[in-house]
Amino acid sequence: MKIPFNKPFIAGKELYYIAQAVAFGNIAGDGVYTKQCTRILEEQLGIHRVLMTPSGTAALEMAAILCEVGPGDEVILPSYTFVSTANAFVRQGATPVFVDIRPDTLNLDENLIEPAITDRTKVICPVHYAGIGCEMDRIMEIAKRHGLLVVEDAAQGVNAFYRGRALGSIGHLGAYSFHETKNYICGEGGALCINDERLVRRAEIIRDKGTNRQQFFRGAVDKYTWVDVGSSYVPSEIASAFLFGQLEMLAPISRRRREIFESYAKHLEPLISKGLLRGPVIPRSSKTNYHMYYVLLPDQRIRDALMDHLRELGIMAVFHYVPLHASPMGKKLGRCDGPLPVTDDMSGRLLRLPFYHELTRNEQTAVVDAMVAFFKNAPPDNAKTNNGVDRAPNRDVKSVP
Ligand SMILES: *Cc1c(COP(=O)(O)O)cnc(C)c1O
Repeated sequence: MKIPFNKPFIAGKELYYIAQAVAFGNIAGDGVYTKQCTRILEEQLGIHRVLMTPSGTAALEMAAILCEVGPGDEVILPSYTFVSTANAFVRQGATPVFVDIRPDTLNLDENLIEPAITDRTKVICPVHYAGIGCEMDRIMEIAKRHGLLVVEDAAQGVNAFYRGRALGSIGHLGAYSFHETKNYICGEGGALCINDERLVRRAEIIRDKGTNRQQFFRGAVDKYTWVDVGSSYVPSEIASAFLFGQLEMLAPISRRRREIFESYAKHLEPLISKGLLRGPVIPRSSKTNYHMYYVLLPDQRIRDALMDHLRELGIMAVFHYVPLHASPMGKKLGRCDGPLPVTDDMSGRLLRLPFYHELTRNEQTAVVDAMVAFFKNAPPDNAKTNNGVDRAPNRDVKSVP
């Protein structure tokens, strides 16, 4: 049996829509399908303005340009994230300042943000890990008091909510990803959410190679020209046509992921109640999109042994991230606001289980059975847990699946 970690899901009409795009004769950007994707995201998620991009990374890069950060400026972000969160700001010459995460959600610890603020801080960039919202009310309040901008890395948070508001729609800017490992996909793709009207005009220019072409199309100027910095941040209609086939299935795709998530939670319960591992924590403030199911093991040795055990059975479970503060670039260009014990600890103990739309009941049972067997055969000293999570201050927690 081979159970991959991820299998890109085809909702059904993607190839048809691509054929349509070709037939319409417009396969560059901002045609019918790019507009349809924009409309779905703006209307169904309640986002002020959406600009589709070729990747989540591109959306973060645009956000960094819009924040006007440069050398000497500091950006507060977690170390426990994908490289693009930091790289987008580093490209502008800014310094990433790494702050620790909460032991329950693995999201930026809102209580550690304020102590990390200096007179050089310009931006806070929370990451909604696993599609579970950061404490945005608190983060926005801190940002307001210090005059900072907030860029949400909502790459994993499309169609997830915090206190009724879509992740990505709460900060000044938000970034989505439609990479094939995310919930809604088109191979490579993304979107920038612009929630502050004052940033819309410049965002359109930066996205269109630094030209005022969008204003030209609207008839606001009589010819278009080079007016600002920019790059090629418009996705192809081919990618948008594919993505439209996914976004029109926004709710059903989320429902299926919920089933998979809840099935893992239910069937791993015997191991969880013995304290051998735990799953994701969803605070009451958060309505997740069930982006992933991870488990936290008591220590790194057990995590690695479990991962090897699953591999031997053809089950691909994976871990991430190498914390950015421990990476060569992070050490060279970043700064830590004090030690990051939770980040260091969690990254050694986390394991992501196979999670994709077409994961069958048999496959999921095989994953769970393999995990149960692992713990049955493990030497007794493996059976004691010091995973720290149960002692974590579970503020406002709805479920600990
Ligand atoms: C996937 C991801 C990105 C990057 O998105 P791409 O579309 O692959 O460029 C950025 N940040 C986080 C947290 C992600 O998970």
